[in-house]
Amino acid sequence: MSFTKESVNKTPIVDTVFVIVDKAKKAKEEVGAENVVDATIGSLYSEDGKLVALDTVFESLKKQDNRVLAKYATSFTGNPDFQKAVYDWVLDGNSKLCHEVIATPGGTGAVGMVVNECLEEGQTIILPEIAWGSYALMAQMHNLKVENYSLFEGDHFNLTSFKETCKKVMEVQDKLVMIINDPCHNPTGYSLTKEEWKEVVDFLNECSKTHKVVLLNDIAYIDFAYGQAKAKEYYSVFDGISDNMAVIVAFSLSKSMTSYGLRCGAAIIMAQQEEIVQEIKIVFEKEARATWSNINNGAMAMFVDVLENHLDEYNKERNYYVNLLKERSDIFVKEANEVGLKHYPYKEGFFVTLSMDNETRDKYHEALMANHIYTVKVNKGIRVAVCSLSLDKIKGLAKKMKDILDSL
Ligand code: PLP
Repeated sequence: MSFTKESVNKTPIVDTVFVIVDKAKKAKEEVGAENVVDATIGSLYSEDGKLVALDTVFESLKKQDNRVLAKYATSFTGNPDFQKAVYDWVLDGNSKLCHEVIATPGGTGAVGMVVNECLEEGQTIILPEIAWGSYALMAQMHNLKVENYSLFEGDHFNLTSFKETCKKVMEVQDKLVMIINDPCHNPTGYSLTKEEWKEVVDFLNECSKTHKVVLLNDIAYIDFAYGQAKAKEYYSVFDGISDNMAVIVAFSLSKSMTSYGLRCGAAIIMAQQEEIVQEIKIVFEKEARATWSNINNGAMAMFVDVLENHLDEYNKERNYYVNLLKERSDIFVKEANEVGLKHYPYKEGFFVTLSMDNETRDKYHEALMANHIYTVKVNKGIRVAVCSLSLDKIKGLAKKMKDILDSL
């Protein structure tokens, strides 16, 4: 018998990213930063190698009255002005569905709430085969089974696999809960087209004739999508969901505001009918109160202030980095294509991921490190964090990586 729940796996978390980040750091001390390519860091870095912290955001935060920073939020679901600001910013006029917003500690809080509260222990959640590692950990902590859909069919979203996976799960339970991390999927950088979203929603509407459906759309990186406001237009497709389906959008200030450590985000609950939204809201509010109680008041006040009073400056500052990210990824992808370094279909976002089987990946990852190129292993691939690599480091990198791959 153990001191903690029997059902939870007792193997410690191996933070593989941290281990490699540490190796890259040591290599920089030993051979000089100019001789190391550190493509491990999953946060936005400037060209001079420093973490980007948007001035608009942190000036607003520091100007908040001490009592605003000190006090509790006004409700367990977040401050009403924050909820409105989140809804307006995220949906950008593209949805007419009934909705509620619950403030959460980052996007993690929003995703975790869906994983914990929408399925019974022992039921199955549907996840992408290549994905942010926390999804699987959340499922494990809540004793859920996992079915994975494969992400790509050629250079498109693998609708066939998505459908097959849903059908398989429908045979064993009366509800479907799935995560689609889009746009700017972590770690491949894929974004579904509006037509692909339509196909997904049409299919889920069919499923909802016999099963309840909860679609979790994790949009953590949306504010760095290259299309900006256009990248939010796909939400209008959700207006066509059936009465037996809910969409929950997980939003994060971590990337949008470059405020990773402030731990603020939101779950936006959407459905055709107010009753469905209220059912989910009541449960999420209880979960919030029972776990984190309420959210960082200063972070919520900052978000409202930035969007209400400093929107142009914020957009200008963020767009500078959106363009920089595009410049970096354009170079890497173009050079990778020229030398034949295979990667998953990248459109936008913080990471490009090279595609390979896991056996090759393990050998290749070691070989890259022997050449002072530090990357992160993901399922069936190697993640290259273009978000933190300077243009200088990116130029020529694909060729170097291809040569190392060929020498295995
Ligand atoms: N979703 C994805 C795909 C992510 O990569 C992350 C962070 O890396 C998150 C959600 C949640 O981030 P946070 O909890 O900091 O908002």
